[in-house]
Amino acid sequence: MHEMSIVLSMLDLAEHSAREEGASRIDAIHLEIGALAGVVPEALEFAFQGARDGTMAEAARLEVDYLPAMARCAGCEADFELDNRYGVALCPTCGTPSANLWQGRELHLAHLEVT
Ligand SMILES: [Zn+2]
Repeated sequence: MHEMSIVLSMLDLAEHSAREEGASRIDAIHLEIGALAGVVPEALEFAFQGARDGTMAEAARLEVDYLPAMARCAGCEADFELDNRYGVALCPTCGTPSANLWQGRELHLAHLEVT
């Protein structure tokens, strides 16, 4: 499962950062995930519940910001939200086909709350 491998690498990264800060546990993990990253929110939450046992994030909350897919038109430079998963769309302002995606594929550990 795609989401499980994401969760495992995020937990790994989170524990590593928490240890570097001298923390003893992780209270919350904040992620930023783009609309085109291919992540199913329910599957991500489910994977997190299963994977956090025995880690520093055992009692942590998972908070996710889902970022809309945004593109910039090559013709008129307007920014617009993509409404499909392929990363290509017609500019709603001038109709130019555009694939200049500048947001939507993120998969970041945004920040941690630790104790
Ligand atoms: Zn345009």
